[in-house]
Amino acid sequence: MILRPDVVVLAGGTIQTGVEVCIQEGRIDAIRPWTSAARAEVGLLLSAAFVNAHSHLEYYDLLGKLESMPYWPWIREVTRIKPTRSIDQVAEAATTAANLNVATGVAAIGEYSDWPVSGEAMAKAGLRGRIFQEVITLGESEQKLSQAKRSAATNASHAVPTHLSAHSTYTTSGSALALLAKTGEPNAIHAAETAFENDFYERGEGPIAELYRQFDIEIDPPGCSAIAYLDSLGALHEQTQLVHACASSDEDIDLAARHGVTIAHCPRSNLALGCPLAPIARLRRKDVKVGLGMDSAASSGPIDFFAEMRAAIEVSHLRGDPLSAEDVWTMATSEGADSIWLRRDWRIVEGANPDLVLLEPRGRSVSDIITKGSPPDVVRLIRL
Ligand SMILES: [Zn+2]
Repeated sequence: MILRPDVVVLAGGTIQTGVEVCIQEGRIDAIRPWTSAARAEVGLLLSAAFVNAHSHLEYYDLLGKLESMPYWPWIREVTRIKPTRSIDQVAEAATTAANLNVATGVAAIGEYSDWPVSGEAMAKAGLRGRIFQEVITLGESEQKLSQAKRSAATNASHAVPTHLSAHSTYTTSGSALALLAKTGEPNAIHAAETAFENDFYERGEGPIAELYRQFDIEIDPPGCSAIAYLDSLGALHEQTQLVHACASSDEDIDLAARHGVTIAHCPRSNLALGCPLAPIARLRRKDVKVGLGMDSAASSGPIDFFAEMRAAIEVSHLRGDPLSAEDVWTMATSEGADSIWLRRDWRIVEGANPDLVLLEPRGRSVSDIITKGSPPDVVRLIRL
């Protein structure tokens, strides 16, 4: 196959015009000047497809259902609503959300699943990636773990790699966090989404302490940050993705870098819930791989990867440590792939094997496309 678009986005977000991309046996064989005037891709842009590094397909039906509110009342409300839905409702939500991911140019996702339905939704939509099957141990640990194992088996039966994952620093017990980390399998943990986690692990204070008292769970603060707490449990390693990492100090960033963890950055969700501004540029300067995630429609809103890229730029400017459009495009593609260990070279370079997306570009720079783009610009995905 030879693709001759107007514009190609090469590795690092560099724009190249007048070249054709030749694909043979699932790999990019050559990138060279057009060898023919016959072009089926006139007016189009070719990029590595987007990777949604953190997703909750199963909450799509909550789009627009929750009023705008800060993180703590929001998470309590989501926890209340979750079990009131039927499995058919959740499956339909996941199917719709999977198709909308494809429609916005996403070829692979890191899906956080609580039900046995995301695997089928991903398989039917042709989405690649992984499922992190959430393990929450607050309250009824034995029952929850066996339920998560059953759901993981169902999801995995659709040929999507599925891994039990500790839901978050504070909703999964220390012993379960340590046990799951020990497997060495890919895992994703919601971590340092707010400063409440640090209040809890440093001093045993705040709303998380109140929640533990409600569940009659002993509070024994280790006197360190949430991310240092994960380190003490052996939960920071090269197969760990930390989701959010908003309330991260310089020391936390050094820990993440030293252990080779990856990060999922969900800027629209973080802005909506009033989370601290995540230190993404600093993490990337320390060579931490950061993917971009659309989280759930319950906090991020409509499934639109262009809106997510715009929000990543906005958050970085608000923090005073800006990311460039090229940085964000890299996070949206190759770094996102690395952040969920797709184990493919997800760039447009010779020898690589990314999935690809063809777009009708609004402008000729990645900055223009991020600023003006929307899902209807996506023409099609090409799966290598
Ligand atoms: Zn999440």
